[in-house]
Amino acid sequence: MRAAVYQGEQKFCLDDLPTPSPKPDQVLIKVNLCAICGTDVHAFLYDIAPPGTVLGHEYCGVIVEVGSEITRWKVGDRVIGGGGEPPPGFEPAVRKNPRFNYRTMGFPEGTIRGYAEYIAMDEWQPIPVPEGVPDEAAAMCEPSAVAVHAVRRSRVRVGDSVGIIGAGPIGLLVAQVAQAAGASKVMMSEPTPGRKAAAASIAVDAVIDPTEQDVEQEMVAMTNGLGPDVVFDCAGIKGTLDQAFNIVRRAGEVVLIAVPWEKMPVMAVDWMARETEFKASWGSIPSDWHVALNMMESGKLSIAPLVSDESYVALEDIQAAFEALVKPSTQVQMIVRL
Ligand SMILES: [Zn+2]
Repeated sequence: MRAAVYQGEQKFCLDDLPTPSPKPDQVLIKVNLCAICGTDVHAFLYDIAPPGTVLGHEYCGVIVEVGSEITRWKVGDRVIGGGGEPPPGFEPAVRKNPRFNYRTMGFPEGTIRGYAEYIAMDEWQPIPVPEGVPDEAAAMCEPSAVAVHAVRRSRVRVGDSVGIIGAGPIGLLVAQVAQAAGASKVMMSEPTPGRKAAAASIAVDAVIDPTEQDVEQEMVAMTNGLGPDVVFDCAGIKGTLDQAFNIVRRAGEVVLIAVPWEKMPVMAVDWMARETEFKASWGSIPSDWHVALNMMESGKLSIAPLVSDESYVALEDIQAAFEALVKPSTQVQMIVRL
């Protein structure tokens, strides 16, 4: 089967790997679409994925073979590659290890994931795609679940004002989930043209360009001089976390969703007297995937603002896609077609 194997030093190579054959308790999935996650872009940018890894965890496909013990699935079922409830003992490393460190333990060597034509999965791992959800949306279920998780973990309540730093895929999904959760005002900060346009298309209350305007000043002015109730850092670059603390209102909440791979300096004396609260939101849990799918089915969450015809690339073009996503100007989301 064809697979894009990470070689190290920001290089992918298209390889021919043996097609996995499912064990008795496994299914074989033909991957149709695999969205490129910001996590993978970070793994590429900072060269942290071990060479030999096949990245890609946002995918959907069709079951093409079932192991002899499988009763839950049949050939032809449309599935999302993740979101299943792990049986005891199969919980993800982050839940099993109380001292889990994503920087040192996040990329296990030799994993084969969605930038390959076929994946064998344990019976419990995938979840079915509801009829009303097209493949394009199903492939984006994981980042949507991440957004659902963050908003559910946050203290956003009906009527709250929300600031979001970064209008990449996660920021755009968080904006929609926050709106659905009842936020009265959603303001976003984003410098790149494509992502600013995407933010405008989901009818947020303000899209502020940090290269032209003072984000703190604008968001504070739009909230009667108080600052937003909750600020989500969906960018995770130098300065954004400190900016979030400066923006949020007295005793408000800052939620970090982006995964910063660099030290983020903070000048706490500027904002700590306002007794702000901080929360990190990590990934998602299975129930978030179902909330995301329900929201997609009911039209409360749409991937349309994130994708256009240019978003889809062939596996052969994955190198160029990653290089483009490192310096996004027009791209928001890219999805590999297999
Ligand atoms: Zn992801």
